[in-house]
Amino acid sequence: MEPVTDTRDRPLRDLRISVTDRCDFRCVYCMPKEVFGRDFEFLRRAQLLTFEEIARLARLFASAGVRKLRLTGGEPLLRRDLERLVEMLAAIDGIEDIALTTNGSLLARKARVLRDAGLRRVTVSLDSLDDEVFGSVNDVGAPVARVLEGIEAAAAAGLGPVKVNMVVKRGLNDTSVLDMARHFRGSGHILRLIEFMDVGASNGWRLDELVAAIGAEWPLEPVPAAYSGEVAERYRYRDGGGEIGVIASVTQPFCHACTRARLSADGRLYTCLFANVGRDLRGPLRAGADDAELEALIGRIWRRRGDRYSELRTAETAGAPKVEMSYIGG
Ligand code: SAM
Repeated sequence: MEPVTDTRDRPLRDLRISVTDRCDFRCVYCMPKEVFGRDFEFLRRAQLLTFEEIARLARLFASAGVRKLRLTGGEPLLRRDLERLVEMLAAIDGIEDIALTTNGSLLARKARVLRDAGLRRVTVSLDSLDDEVFGSVNDVGAPVARVLEGIEAAAAAGLGPVKVNMVVKRGLNDTSVLDMARHFRGSGHILRLIEFMDVGASNGWRLDELVAAIGAEWPLEPVPAAYSGEVAERYRYRDGGGEIGVIASVTQPFCHACTRARLSADGRLYTCLFANVGRDLRGPLRAGADDAELEALIGRIWRRRGDRYSELRTAETAGAPKVEMSYIGG
């Protein structure tokens, strides 16, 4: 199949694959207990794509132009034997990079086996180094030390440089930013400040204020983008202490160069990472569609794509639909 481009001439290069909708954290801005409590109905096993189904779709996406895969969730490490999926994905022609976004809680025991299976990179979410603040974010009492252990184990296993994603929310963890910068400076890991995305209202929040605060302590300079479509704005410490990144997907949209799609755990394809409606691929897959039919379907969906959610959102700062966050972490 020829690589496809959409109505705005954007190729399909990156695929986020959600392998589960479950998570062991209840981060207040993502899966709050009030919504994701005891009664919440998560997907049943039969609704999830199997590893074989994911690998088959990934192979078809690769033939449509996808080069990078990112496994996410929910919490992807809750999916048993994830390394088996990584191994299957690593064997696909055309796939150059496989990454994982995780909360780090199970990473220390999984890092080596994932690396051996073909995982290349890992992004770990961590919103504070202070157990009290972190506990009030994850809402299950998960300790900072366990996540830090996961980060070190990933680096030791060769999954570095580890990116550490910190979602910054005013009044929740903004006081932790300088601590995080201090801790990760010179560590070889890359701290990235993620714009908190509010579902509905405007953020009223500029990450450049935080970059300025870090720069006032440890002078920074901008780093040119490594490739077109890079989502993070990068800065390096002038004294050689490494770099940080800033991802402001709403206030500084990168739709014009967006080459990302998202496959949900139950096999729906979303052509905009903010979209709340996806196209079902599992139905045709399980109904016996052959590769050519599935390829044609993926191609048709991408060619019709015209999404530019964040650009429009920035222009209008109007109300936003419900957002599933599984895509963050690039
Ligand atoms: N469980 C994994 C993890 O924690 O990295 C993967 C999935 S998680 C949904 C992916 C990322 O989305 C995390 O870094 C999380 O902090 C971020 N995220 C969730 N809700 C967000 C929001 N409202 N605004 C910004 N980032 C958010």
